[in-house]
Amino acid sequence: MQHLSSNQTSPSTTAGLWRIVGCLTPEQTKRFEREIQLVASATLPAQSSVQPRTRAAEGVRVRHSLWCPARRDAACGCSPRWEAWVYSRKDRGKIRKTFPEHWEAKAWRHRQLELASVERLHAPSHHTLGETASLWVKMAQEGQLRNRSGRRYKPSALRTIEIDLRLRLVPSLGTKVMVGVTRADLQHLVGRWLSEGLSPSKIRSIVNAARVLWRDLDLLTGPDDPLLVDPTRGLRLPASIGRHQRIRYPR
Ligand SMILES: [Zn+2]
Repeated sequence: MQHLSSNQTSPSTTAGLWRIVGCLTPEQTKRFEREIQLVASATLPAQSSVQPRTRAAEGVRVRHSLWCPARRDAACGCSPRWEAWVYSRKDRGKIRKTFPEHWEAKAWRHRQLELASVERLHAPSHHTLGETASLWVKMAQEGQLRNRSGRRYKPSALRTIEIDLRLRLVPSLGTKVMVGVTRADLQHLVGRWLSEGLSPSKIRSIVNAARVLWRDLDLLTGPDDPLLVDPTRGLRLPASIGRHQRIRYPR
């Protein structure tokens, strides 16, 4: 991979960077996008030496600067940006995004159309823990979701998870979006359950119910949902040594 500081950053390098973006959290993506755009605009050849593109691909339109002569049907004198759109069924409208380069707009639209074709075009932020939990239970009951060994959940195991989700997790975090739940949120709940006198094994059972939601999140909401950090990872849980043992947790 070429060095970012090189003046030779090629479109394919940038394309590679864009692919990496798919693995990041929304916040990281935003920051990374800005970086890529900066790198791209700093390293691509000056616009004057590039034949200005006049035709946009389907679903992409050119956005000239306010002062650009192209707005008065003269030759373009700006570095136009490119706006792509796709229709989102979920949002019942067009989603638009503007890019410095035509190929970026085209690539974005292409990817969104792919996602839309499996009806998974939506913002990840829309999925609350409550919705995800009901979907999980439904899909697990139908056998679409399997346990870690790839087998269907036994009815008793499924029932435990369903109850832990419904009685413990959804009342506390149900309205939070999945990508917004942090390990601190869960750790705080663990502390609360301990102080309410729940046994360590019950707490482990509830955390396990939370764990399957994040583990199966991509199956529930589509592969486009970037799974950030699994907030159930690294939780400090009480050992199942006896229900009178209390462990102090920082709030
Ligand atoms: Zn222009």
